[in-house]
Amino acid sequence: MTEEPFHTIIEPFRIHSVEPMRLTTRAQRVSALAAVGYNLFELPADDVLIDLLTDSGTGAMSAEQWASIQRGNEAYAGAPSFYRFRDAVTGLFPFAHVLPTHQGRAAEKILFTAAGGPGLIVPNNTHFDTTRANVEFTGAQAVDLPIAEGLQPAARHPFKGNMDVAALDHLLTERADSVPLVMLTVTNNSGGGQPVSMANVRAVSDVCRKFGKPLFLDACRIAENAWFIRTREPGYADVPVADIVREMAGLADGMTMSAKKDPLANIGGWLALNDENLAERCRNLEILTEGFPTYGGLAGRDLEAIAQGLREAVDHDYLRYRVRSVEYLGAALEQAGVPVVVPFGGHAVFIDARALLPHIEPLAYPGQALACALYAEGGVRTCEIGTVMFGLHPDGTETPAPMDLVRLAIPRRTYTQSHIDYVIEVATRVAARADDLPGMRIVSQPRQLRHFTARFAPES
Ligand SMILES: *Cc1c(COP(=O)(O)O)cnc(C)c1O
Repeated sequence: MTEEPFHTIIEPFRIHSVEPMRLTTRAQRVSALAAVGYNLFELPADDVLIDLLTDSGTGAMSAEQWASIQRGNEAYAGAPSFYRFRDAVTGLFPFAHVLPTHQGRAAEKILFTAAGGPGLIVPNNTHFDTTRANVEFTGAQAVDLPIAEGLQPAARHPFKGNMDVAALDHLLTERADSVPLVMLTVTNNSGGGQPVSMANVRAVSDVCRKFGKPLFLDACRIAENAWFIRTREPGYADVPVADIVREMAGLADGMTMSAKKDPLANIGGWLALNDENLAERCRNLEILTEGFPTYGGLAGRDLEAIAQGLREAVDHDYLRYRVRSVEYLGAALEQAGVPVVVPFGGHAVFIDARALLPHIEPLAYPGQALACALYAEGGVRTCEIGTVMFGLHPDGTETPAPMDLVRLAIPRRTYTQSHIDYVIEVATRVAARADDLPGMRIVSQPRQLRHFTARFAPES
């Protein structure tokens, strides 16, 4: 007999130690905003009540992870902590060589230093920003090949993160000699945390084999992706997530990973691959930049926390709670009439600020205006993903980004349902007086990556 499910989302953990949050008044928040030039990256985190800036490295560790940290062995070479880390990684991702790194971008830097270069082309469903930057830094071109639905905020598709396989086949037919490897990002972060189907991974893998090209997974959120495969793709409803992850990895030749995402650690990453020669070159680069290949920029205790985090990342009760709690926030905002990107991804809900604030021109930064209003209203910190982030070009010109979104990224196991209910209340209040929100203008900005340090002022 199957049990009747409950509607309440149970956080599948109880609280073990607490971190007090500082409550602030609206007046304090309004003056804090002015003091940092309306740039939320410049706010001291103590002035933030609910921090939804990113899900990267902001999760809560488990009692078992803290316990494993005590087992951390800090030998320079061959520490037992490295072998426990390596075995946890290869248990899910059976690649021949595993190189730990201090973050995901360090793995990217090593991989593309070894495999990139001027005139080369690296295709991906959608490059994450650090991946794109590392590809381009070598003089290679980073090409995004998402399916058409991936670019439409209101289009419902179960696997909006898929790669356009025909476009990949076409690119390889024309330019195979220029493509050193193919990347596939699971879930597709820049596309809204949208999953990639197993059928798509297999089709991309087949095209790569046809042209003799290695396929690398950018696997930061592969556990969330596998959960979506289990719940949405025919034939997978009874397959354990760990097996789905292994099946995806088996279709690839290597991976880059940030342990700050699904592996539930606060720092770390790795590069894993099968090719012996490429691995040799990567190990030499790793020694130059990260450290000896059995610690790679991490302490032994970090390797232990990652090893244990990986076991917890594929737990079904955890993943069910994780995906349902993101959906809970998205559905409540949608019901309150706040325009959101659908379907909801694995790690974040995106508000369509351009749709909510039609009176604010894209070049008056509706996403920034909304993010500042959410902070002023309730101390909720979010991230503009729009014209502030993508509008300024290297030649100094400025154009509207394709979309003006505000991302509410959910840290793993960190906030409870009442915290999320509070966020919903704050966002609903801001949306109710959206017509009164002023646009923003930029007072000063650097020439690159301006979203981190630009200063703004509200338009009067
Ligand atoms: C975060 C992330 C990275 C980079 O990882 P860091 O640990 O932040 O350097 C790469 N790809 C994707 C999809 C990510 O989300």
